[in-house]
Amino acid sequence: MAEIRHPRLAWQFGEVVETHPATPRAKSLLLDVPGWEGHKAGQHVDIRLTAEDGYQAQRSYSIASAPEDNRVELVVERLDDGEVSPYLTDELRPGDKLELRGPIGGWFAWEAKDGGPLFFVAGGSGIAPLMAMIRHRAAAGSDVSCHLLYSSRSREETIFAEELDQLAASDGSLQVFHTLTRSQPPDWTGYARRIDRVMLAEVSPEENPLAFVCGPTPLVESVATELVGLGHDARRIKTERFGPTGG
Ligand SMILES: Cc1cc2nc3c(=O)[nH]c(=O)nc-3n(C[C@H](O)[C@H](O)[C@H](O)COP(=O)(O)OP(=O)(O)OC[C@H]3O[C@@H](n4cnc5c(N)ncnc54)[C@H](O)[C@@H]3O)c2cc1C
Repeated sequence: MAEIRHPRLAWQFGEVVETHPATPRAKSLLLDVPGWEGHKAGQHVDIRLTAEDGYQAQRSYSIASAPEDNRVELVVERLDDGEVSPYLTDELRPGDKLELRGPIGGWFAWEAKDGGPLFFVAGGSGIAPLMAMIRHRAAAGSDVSCHLLYSSRSREETIFAEELDQLAASDGSLQVFHTLTRSQPPDWTGYARRIDRVMLAEVSPEENPLAFVCGPTPLVESVATELVGLGHDARRIKTERFGPTGG
């Protein structure tokens, strides 16, 4: 039987137009993808690398840019023993071509018309799809209540720290809570431990929020379990697992 392919899922090449460090271990990649038909906040792309001998490796990366942005932004965290991420963070240069397909995924996605209140919980690079939602919410002029709880190892490893601070400062209905698990600045007043049930209870919006949880697999599973334990409606908890270990 002939394979049925959705045209949007065909492999194509995007051009890297800009790269910059997001943190010491993560790189932001801005891509120009010819014919890109747009995406929903929360979706991802697949990236495929092909070696000279034909060997291929494929990984998924969430889109961090808003649907309103015509460039596709990815944020890749470098895993030292990784096959794909060190190439993306260390080797790619503006002008390089990158093979990708997407956008992919419809479940872990949010559009302004979906409403709220919203409760976002992220660990590390798990902020990427939630940042697309936060940026989309701002671009669409949505004022639904949105609380973000974001776990990072340290302030310098907090991806999008300044942009999140600026958005929260200018938007009374967006609240950003950070927890820094490994080291904290001397004047730190935020949380300084792994996300737990008490923390979730303290920062969750009050009324039956739509929850999106994204990050390392153990963080996502424990947060989803705790949210259900706190009485959240499991049907309103959406999760995206980035990888097998906690980092
Ligand atoms: C839907 C989806 C979206 C994703 N979006 C992003 C994103 O926006 N940014 C991003 O940096 N990554 C993202 N990931 C993870 C990404 O796809 C890769 O798994 C990651 O970059 C590691 O690939 P690698 O080839 O470098 O490591 P591999 O060679 O696959 O693995 C190297 C080692 O690291 C472990 N490992 C693999 N993945 C992870 C992980 N995520 N965390 C901790 N340890 C891991 C492996 O068990 C192994 O021990 C996403 C994953 C999914 C499924």
